[in-house]
Amino acid sequence: MSGFFAASASKRVTQLLAWWQVHGRKDPALKPWMFRADGTWPAAEEVLNPYGIWIAEVMLQQTQLQVVLPYWQRWMEAFPTLEALAAADEQAVLLRWQGLGYYSRGRRLLAAARTIQEQWPCGADRFCDAWPRDLDTWLALPGIGRSTAGGILSSAFNSPLAILDGNVRRVLARLMAHARPPMRDQSVFWNWSEALIEASPEWARDLNQALMDLGATVCTPRKPLCSACPWQGGCAAYAAGSPDHYPVKETPRDIPFQVIGVGVVLNQAGEVLIDQRLNEGLLGGMWEFPGGKQEPGEAIADTIRRELQEELAIEVEVEQELITVEHAYSHKKLRFVVYLCRWLSGEPQPLASQQVRWVKPEELGNFPFPAANARIIAALMEHLGLPSMPV
Ligand code: SF4
Repeated sequence: MSGFFAASASKRVTQLLAWWQVHGRKDPALKPWMFRADGTWPAAEEVLNPYGIWIAEVMLQQTQLQVVLPYWQRWMEAFPTLEALAAADEQAVLLRWQGLGYYSRGRRLLAAARTIQEQWPCGADRFCDAWPRDLDTWLALPGIGRSTAGGILSSAFNSPLAILDGNVRRVLARLMAHARPPMRDQSVFWNWSEALIEASPEWARDLNQALMDLGATVCTPRKPLCSACPWQGGCAAYAAGSPDHYPVKETPRDIPFQVIGVGVVLNQAGEVLIDQRLNEGLLGGMWEFPGGKQEPGEAIADTIRRELQEELAIEVEVEQELITVEHAYSHKKLRFVVYLCRWLSGEPQPLASQQVRWVKPEELGNFPFPAANARIIAALMEHLGLPSMPV
């Protein structure tokens, strides 16, 4: 199948690039990291500063362009250069990442920036010569996979490297009417993406952008606009009349559900107790209100009392319910049942966290919290009659 694909790759590239010249998302307001300083698209032999591209590629790992853009702009204002990022405090980095989810990616960006600065030192005017240009070096950095590395290097240096993100996978699965979930046949999909680059390596930057733009604007997850597609004539899913059947999905598995009892603990000074998670895992390094999993048959007030005892060594009076928040991750669904609590005794200890702090409710906006906590904070502020804050 990949030989068959390679044989037609040159024609497909020509069709795709011709479409992209007219319909691609070549707008500096949409993808500022892809343009020269004067707002024009770079010629094939020109290089771009990889820093903004790298940040955008990592942000785009989990969300769409329109959502990423304001986060990227705020990030670039806070950390305009690799040096600024490498010198930043981890809390400041997590605050800028807040809302994008997968907070470990923010921490890995910081770690990678420090590695690059250490291994490729240069003056304040760092530009392209001081950046690694080979795939293996990028792959060795924290948080960089093959598609992200290919995206960075092809975008910045026009390196002839393929990408394979969700958009590209969907387009190729339909084009070839591939009968299995793409994640089970990653090597096949990489071969197809590479065949396109090999057919026109001098246009790698434009080609990868064109593939992503086609997936985002024409070959969309639902209701693809096949009548506007440059590949309609050679698309197996279109010919079969069933683009919506592709990519073939995995059989849905049961997602575990857990109830979490959460205590919003206030002391006599009106301060609220928060703790910082350990650095491992999805939400590593983020701040949260303390709590934990409800045991079978346990009343939620008992869960909260027990968790606060076990994790912070404090005694509390569990008072009224503040809010219940449902939150779905890809691998589990959580229900946070949140109660206001009055601190009775015990100096809070970080027995299961990095640190604990009493803070004024008005200061909560200075700490990075996971998305599920934004509604808890809003409910607390309303309960206390304080103005809401952006979280
Ligand atoms: Fe996607 Fe339709 Fe184009 Fe096939 S013809 S690649 S299904 S938009």
